[in-house]
Amino acid sequence: MLNVFETQQKLAAAFGPSGQENDVANIIAELAKPFADEVYTDRLGNLIACKKGEGQAKVMFSAHMDSLGLIVTHIDENGFLWFSNIGGLALWRIYGSVVRFRNGTRGIVFIHGKADPKEPKLSDLYIDIGAKDETSARKKVQIGDVAVFDQPAFLMGDGLLASPYLDDRIACVILLAAMQELPKTANDLYFVFSSQEELGIRGAKTAAYGIDPDYGIAVDVTTSGDIPKYKPKMECKLHGGAAIKIMDASVICHPHVVQWLEDVADREGILHQREILQQGGTDAGAIHVTRSGVYTGAISIPTRYIHNPVEICALDDVDACIRLVRAACDISL
Ligand SMILES: [Zn+2]
Repeated sequence: MLNVFETQQKLAAAFGPSGQENDVANIIAELAKPFADEVYTDRLGNLIACKKGEGQAKVMFSAHMDSLGLIVTHIDENGFLWFSNIGGLALWRIYGSVVRFRNGTRGIVFIHGKADPKEPKLSDLYIDIGAKDETSARKKVQIGDVAVFDQPAFLMGDGLLASPYLDDRIACVILLAAMQELPKTANDLYFVFSSQEELGIRGAKTAAYGIDPDYGIAVDVTTSGDIPKYKPKMECKLHGGAAIKIMDASVICHPHVVQWLEDVADREGILHQREILQQGGTDAGAIHVTRSGVYTGAISIPTRYIHNPVEICALDDVDACIRLVRAACDISL
């Protein structure tokens, strides 16, 4: 049986900003192979693990592998690195954080002295890799190199897990865990570990076109409203169970899929809650408008501090999501 924490630790420590998901994909492929009939990648970098049933319907699950990143745009004469964003970096939350390039070079993100720390712009932030000058910096980092958050994952008290990139590696863990004990189903199952979600749901688009599924289920994190003075009000909370998405900014989930997921969760005794995410999207946004349309829903993991260098979720919610993904393999409307 896959250990959720250890697998998250491994995936969170792998380098995988949008467009460079290979290292993450390689780890996932090794873990998925014993439980799939076929594991392959497409041209956009999606990793797809397929488990044949009896051809009743094609069900596509999708969890994105890619993470946010900081891409170097300029190296100045003092050896400081200036960068642009890959995905939705929350600038006021990242200065002071430690980042790491693929070759292991570490740096600290900071803000220049004349900037307004309350409303920093991308051009106010730089990465200090400890280089004494530009020549020294260029020996370690090139223009176009990408840095990712460099933080350890750790278990907190009361069943909580803190880790960088729970968004969305924890959903990759959930799909892998579900694959290890698949129910017998007449459906053909496609577990997609998608690329470039953070840049506008790009990988899931080509994956869904290629697979041409009847049903799509995205698995991703969602906001958790149980933190001090959180606005806007959000009903989802840690320990509230698997969140069944009603809508987000990218999708209105098909009401029959929502109903089916709620019914099966009730039948199986899986704790669940409803989710409406007012900002942000998921792979469901691309899947449901593929070809002539796909019956689509989403299962979400309530997560605090999404897109921060470290995020927090609850292990019991992860477990509920694993059970719900397993149950959803059998979907039939
Ligand atoms: Zn995500």
